Amino acid sequence: MGVFKLGKMTFGSLFKKPETVLYPIEQKPKPVGLKGHIAIEAESCILCGMCDRSCATNCITVDKQARTWAIDRFQCIQCGYCVTCCPKKCLHMDPDYAPASTQHTVDVVEVPAQDKPAKAEKADDNKPAATAAAAAEKPSETEQVPTNAKDRDEALLAAIALMEPEKAQRVRDALEARS
Ligand code: SF4
Ligand code: SF4
Repeated sequence: MGVFKLGKMTFGSLFKKPETVLYPIEQKPKPVGLKGHIAIEAESCILCGMCDRSCATNCITVDKQARTWAIDRFQCIQCGYCVTCCPKKCLHMDPDYAPASTQHTVDVVEVPAQDKPAKAEKADDNKPAATAAAAAEKPSETEQVPTNAKDRDEALLAAIALMEPEKAQRVRDALEARS
């Protein structure tokens, strides 16, 4: 680059607004198609652990005893596979940035106990309520989630086939590193 061109750029930059912003106080507009980060509606979570077992980077930890769902956002690659695996559909991609952090932290969410339907006195009266509760707990045919490792891997490969090549490669790399 010539001296004159460089001098012109330097001089011009004295009169321009800086390209950078004081993040997180100031924020630039979100790019179109931003995937954001994983969010959970804890009230609907049944602590089944499907997201934990399916995550390509092992960044989700479900603790049934402690009733907690935790995610290491520094490891998450936003592939979205856990969202498709969750039988209760309580995970989603929040199209916004996760809060800025200066330290490597794990977000831990407490999962509240779910109210069970009260037992009816007569068995016959209880039947419709029990059926409805069972249907709510059990994924429908279309939402059926693979339970064995082979089927899960096949489902993951099918999901990878639908991803953009660059993202698919990142997921494959993560899976290789996990194995
Ligand atoms: S988006 Fe992908 S990497 Fe992130 S928690 Fe879900 S399965 Fe794991
Ligand atoms: S798959 Fe869904 S319901 Fe199961 S533990 Fe994960 S978030 Fe909760």
